[in-house]
Amino acid sequence: MISRKNSEQLFEKAKTYFPGGVNSPVRAFKSVMGAPLFIKKGDGAYVWDEDDNQFIDFCCSWGPLILGHNNEKVRKKIEETLANGTSFGAPTKLENELAELILSRNPYADKIRFTSSGTEAVMSAIRLARGYTKRDKIIKFEGCYHGHSDSLLVKAGSGLVTFGESSSAGVPEAFAAETIVLPLNDPEALEACVRELGNEIACAIIEPIPANNGLLLQEKGFLTKLREICTQYGILLLFDEVISGFRVAFSGAAEYYGITPDLVTYGKIIGGGLPVGAYGGKAEIMACISPDGPVYQAGTLSGNPVAMAAGIAALEQCAQPGFYQDQEERTNYLVDKINAYAGEKGYAFEIFSIGSIFWIAFSDKVAIRRADEIDSDMTPFKMLHSELLNRGIYIGPSGYEVGFISKAHTKEILDTTFPAFCEALDAVFA
Ligand code: PLP
Repeated sequence: MISRKNSEQLFEKAKTYFPGGVNSPVRAFKSVMGAPLFIKKGDGAYVWDEDDNQFIDFCCSWGPLILGHNNEKVRKKIEETLANGTSFGAPTKLENELAELILSRNPYADKIRFTSSGTEAVMSAIRLARGYTKRDKIIKFEGCYHGHSDSLLVKAGSGLVTFGESSSAGVPEAFAAETIVLPLNDPEALEACVRELGNEIACAIIEPIPANNGLLLQEKGFLTKLREICTQYGILLLFDEVISGFRVAFSGAAEYYGITPDLVTYGKIIGGGLPVGAYGGKAEIMACISPDGPVYQAGTLSGNPVAMAAGIAALEQCAQPGFYQDQEERTNYLVDKINAYAGEKGYAFEIFSIGSIFWIAFSDKVAIRRADEIDSDMTPFKMLHSELLNRGIYIGPSGYEVGFISKAHTKEILDTTFPAFCEALDAVFA
């Protein structure tokens, strides 16, 4: 058993400062065993906690760190930029550079606006959709998480599932009433909804790769149908690519599936580990944003130069030829080996993956596409989490969360992971 003495002490102190001892709920380890680990540093595929335990990190800060921790080019670019100051509240060349890097490779957005988080990006994109269409209702899909703005905290992802709530207290009923929640991968439910309310709906928002309530991979036919229906009823299709953007392909799931949304949101990887979000879309729609148009949205630290610098250094590396193929190959290399091992042993266990995103499921189903298809007994996950930590492997502390593989997770590191993972599985199924 690893020692968590220092982390435990820090957590006790943190509980006196912060609700639940944390500044974001899932970090509290409520759904797994023991105190949360306080992380001291990260380098490449590794993190070290305050008790000096070393882990191979498959959480990667919940997705942003596609290059691993402390990437040299990202760090250097941050240091260079920092030498000139941290924030000006005026435009900088770096904003142009990051926008150019993104838009020149992205046929899905003509213009973009930077924010400081994914939540802000999505909240603003929804306001834009409402302002552009002059309609109020929105469609979201059950189990998709789009950040913590009021109208989107309705049947959202893991944090809420983990705490057994389907929506948050403090959200006025009138707000939630404008959000229509539909099941994923269900074209009939979608058709029935738009037949009745189609002309009142501003946008349909979806994680095209739903990755906040397990990994609920959609059939491409469903996403295509959604695109067709949106076009038919004048509903804007909003792809929330905060996780999938720059992760499964440079231009995210839109590129991966070849489906064009009207609006797209980004976060996580776009900031190279610093706080950046963005929303973008067709020029005509983006023209509604202030100061060009009537939809207001702003931010003191939006486009912050240091964050832009980190984003540029990260995305330049992601844009290299073969980057995403290599990410996917290494992910499959590990996932296939573990799945084969679990299969030989007859364990009800499967790791689902796409690109370099994976999800650990204690299930013998061949596909899980909807929130209600997930087995709600998280006891085996809880055990696995603890067994993995004790063997030097760090994954997110919830069975509803996905894991990530970074460029720093070399085959050698994955070869070290494999036997440790198998041992942990054996301990769970013993
Ligand atoms: N949208 C999706 C798909 C997300 O996964 C998240 C966060 O995990 C968000 C939006 C919110 O982003 P942030 O946590 O940066 O506010």
